[in-house]
Amino acid sequence: MIKIQNFIDGKWVDSAANEYVDVVNPATMEVLARTPLSPAQEVDDAAQAALAAFDDWRRTPAVERVQYLFKLKNLLEENYEELARTLTMENGKTLGESRGEIRRAIENVEVACGIPTLIQGYNSEDIARGIDEFMIRQPIGVGAAICPFNFPVMIPFWFMPYAIACGNTYLVKPSEKVPLTMKMIFEMLEAVELPRGVVNLVNGTNEAVNAILDHPIISAISFVGSTAVAKYVYAKATANGKRAQVQGGAKNPIIVLPDADLESATRIVADSAFGSAGQRCLAASIAVTVGGDQNKFTDAILQAASERIVGYGLEEGVNMGPVITPESKNRIEELITLGEAEGARILIDGRKPSIPGFENGNFIGPTILGNVPAEGELFKTEIFGPVLSLIDVETIDDAIALVNSGDYGNMASLFTTNGAAARKFRYEAQAGNIGINIGVAAPMAFFPFSGWRQSFFGVMHGQGRDAVEFYTQKKVVIERWPKEWERKF
Ligand code: NAD
Repeated sequence: MIKIQNFIDGKWVDSAANEYVDVVNPATMEVLARTPLSPAQEVDDAAQAALAAFDDWRRTPAVERVQYLFKLKNLLEENYEELARTLTMENGKTLGESRGEIRRAIENVEVACGIPTLIQGYNSEDIARGIDEFMIRQPIGVGAAICPFNFPVMIPFWFMPYAIACGNTYLVKPSEKVPLTMKMIFEMLEAVELPRGVVNLVNGTNEAVNAILDHPIISAISFVGSTAVAKYVYAKATANGKRAQVQGGAKNPIIVLPDADLESATRIVADSAFGSAGQRCLAASIAVTVGGDQNKFTDAILQAASERIVGYGLEEGVNMGPVITPESKNRIEELITLGEAEGARILIDGRKPSIPGFENGNFIGPTILGNVPAEGELFKTEIFGPVLSLIDVETIDDAIALVNSGDYGNMASLFTTNGAAARKFRYEAQAGNIGINIGVAAPMAFFPFSGWRQSFFGVMHGQGRDAVEFYTQKKVVIERWPKEWERKF
């Protein structure tokens, strides 16, 4: 059994943790590894190593810093399949989904390789006679990412490549449930011979997170996780004077108009709601249909859900894996029961799926509830499982009002063939990521991964230019050279 280590100051080190948590394959329930719940001292060790590395790293030209990322990209490509298999084993998503996630991570490395251009500032000559003004971007020092279980590879890459390419040094705290892929990635970072201390890995949970949030050396925090923890992290990080970009939970609505292309809308919504077993922060959770009986979407999505093949993600043909833990499975099942008690009708019940050979896995089949009351708890609560709630309204205005009635604002999508309706929706929907005939509106690495309302706390998002802004501070220089101005040399 693998005992997960930390990577601090260029070395793999055993944690002095008293407590460990098991890393369990959610399909087979095999224990794959044990994650140490690292004590605060180990965060301090990592922060001190990162600080010691900072001065030389920031002086390393950006064009040299990104050479390490070019090498990392090559290693990620070479180890793509092994990384994907490990991801499926620790997280449960299908092999195809794992490959897609790793591709997204690599795209962020590619964009961060453009930092020598992205980090450039701007200047004005002669803001007054003989006086010039410049804006230059400098790294902020030591940053840290605190990550969730659902995208163990991709999410750290929304932040880390940009942070280090901009000249910062770094600490990653993966989810304690899924440490194996980040272990592999740190082995690659070691292999590309990044100077020691530039990147550090500390495993654990609450104690390590609190130590990061309180640490005086760490000045920028990137967090992704549930809204309850996000609020805590944002409050603590900002009270300690740190920059924070903090992504929270989601409850993503999609609207289907009667004029939508039924075949593609159904396929896309089914992938969004049930892909990754519904454990995507951009998963469709509520489908609002407009137009009553003339809208054929309900029948079509029931059919699509019943055709999904649930099973172990490493097996051929499977297109939906298990949820992450037995606790998560129980919680999802309880929410389905709650929905029924609130008056929703269970149209497909995934609570007791039969998966031969994987009887102990955390499986829930695709589940669809109809007539979900908009004032109920089920409508408001993030389920984070393969459960789609249906609700029918009369007009697109009613549908947009429902979309905007929720607390979250991660994603909202519209399915239609009407351009004016699409424009109205794009303009009025209260969410940071908008899809028009798109089920998982995940921004490419050169766009910010947005999020509004209770789905995001902060200003600058992860990925692309926003990540460069977040991981640099602006310095404005106003410069006069009297002799030159007086022409006396
Ligand atoms: P989580 O909030 O349980 O954990 C996230 C991180 O916080 C982990 O590293 C964990 O160790 C740490 N943590 C958990 N409880 C803590 C506590 N009490 N004190 C300090 N640290 C704590 O989230 P999760 O279950 O790993 O991930 C799923 C959640 O993440 C969902 O709500 C999902 O919507 C959200 N998510 C959001 C986005 C987005 O872009 N907005 C992306 C992915 C996931």
